[in-house]
Amino acid sequence: MKAIIIGGGIGGIISALTLRYHGMDVELYERAEGNPEIGSAVQFTANVTNIFKRIGLLDLVKACGSPVEVRNMREWNTGNIISTNRLGDTIAERELGSPYLVFGRSELLDRLGEQLPAGLARYGMRCVAVEQDDSGVRAVFENGHVATGDVLIGADGIRSTVRRLVFGEIEPVFSGKVAYRGLIPAEQLPDFESYQWTANAWPAPGQFLLQNFAGRRTINLSLYRNNQRLEDLDTGHRTAVVSMEQVLSFVEGWEPAAREWLSRSADFLRWPLFDIEPLNAWAKGRVALLGDAAHATLPFIGQGAGQGAEDASALGDALAHMPDDPVGALMLYEEFRLPRASRVQLESRARSNYMMLKDPFAINQRNLQWREASKAITGYFGNSVDHWILNYDVARAFQEHVAA
Ligand SMILES: Cc1cc2nc3c(=O)[nH]c(=O)nc-3n(C[C@H](O)[C@H](O)[C@H](O)COP(=O)(O)OP(=O)(O)OC[C@H]3O[C@@H](n4cnc5c(N)ncnc54)[C@H](O)[C@@H]3O)c2cc1C
Repeated sequence: MKAIIIGGGIGGIISALTLRYHGMDVELYERAEGNPEIGSAVQFTANVTNIFKRIGLLDLVKACGSPVEVRNMREWNTGNIISTNRLGDTIAERELGSPYLVFGRSELLDRLGEQLPAGLARYGMRCVAVEQDDSGVRAVFENGHVATGDVLIGADGIRSTVRRLVFGEIEPVFSGKVAYRGLIPAEQLPDFESYQWTANAWPAPGQFLLQNFAGRRTINLSLYRNNQRLEDLDTGHRTAVVSMEQVLSFVEGWEPAAREWLSRSADFLRWPLFDIEPLNAWAKGRVALLGDAAHATLPFIGQGAGQGAEDASALGDALAHMPDDPVGALMLYEEFRLPRASRVQLESRARSNYMMLKDPFAINQRNLQWREASKAITGYFGNSVDHWILNYDVARAFQEHVAA
């Protein structure tokens, strides 16, 4: 079985690893000239880290992920603690069997990419056409290169070319929310050791600030703003670098510690937040979508990349289960994965205002719920129903699905 993967983001790289775990032949093509990830953070909860455990990479991800133990929810104007949620390495491992870790995106991709044989991932390769027939599938690249395989996986992100070519045009949906993401290297913080491993969050009316980590040596800041208009952003849907002073102007009147954190990042990346409507098909013949190409998700429950990792695990299992029937294997992959990933997409949308409520009664209700939820790791998203997201072993669920 030979797979061509289009896209070298988190979804594409983890797919290359999981398919190789099953002994498959893989070629990966990325349009950027090198590691495409930008500086920022990404968290993986136990449902994702258990995938690394299975493929023998848990120690590797533990070595570059920060094992955040505690997250304090704080009042935006006083800094008083609303609730303290236990998240971390030891707690998550005890309760869920795998750790909760937060990574620097670029570093994570570098470390995972190093596990692939040299030359397997090819950079500067933009896929422009996809063709398939009974004998195989071909990807054509802008530079004239043609790759052939048994299956082709479109892991090429929210504005996926593979999706457009195979399934038609789908417009991403703007959420009205914009993230501003900043980084502070440990070297700039003489007291860095004293922050380990505590994250702080300040939910405010219409805005939400999270101070977390990006790997083991960097603090990550994310300020989310609600009710934004794309027309007001000079770079439209694209990311752009903005000044620290501009970001500070959004948090006038906030408690000093929150402002102090924001003042320490040299600049911020402005990131308008989009998702797509859940699709009703991810596979057509020998081509399947994976990661954001299949189910771009708002980041408010921190599961977008994690769902791509679950896809990668299931894709490997489906192809290994039906090695002589690639078309059937991709249908099995879609049938198994689409309902869960779509549910996560809709849940993320439904919760997208939760951190930025404005109504005092609703804020009170939410804060009470947080206090209650903070008693258990599975309540870490602020709602005990999150058990279905966190306490999930995709490999076991796949076996159960096939058996049923
Ligand atoms: C603010 C924010 C915070 C987030 N936080 C989290 C979090 O904490 N946890 C989590 O799990 N998720 C999080 N997410 C979601 C996560 O970032 C995405 O789900 C994930 O990065 C998607 O990975 P991907 O590989 O599917 O797509 P991408 O990362 O978009 O990668 C697609 C790749 O395909 C390449 N490509 C595109 N077109 C072509 C082509 N024609 N030919 C070749 N290559 C091509 C691109 O260059 C790119 O490298 C967050 C998202 C945002 C916006």
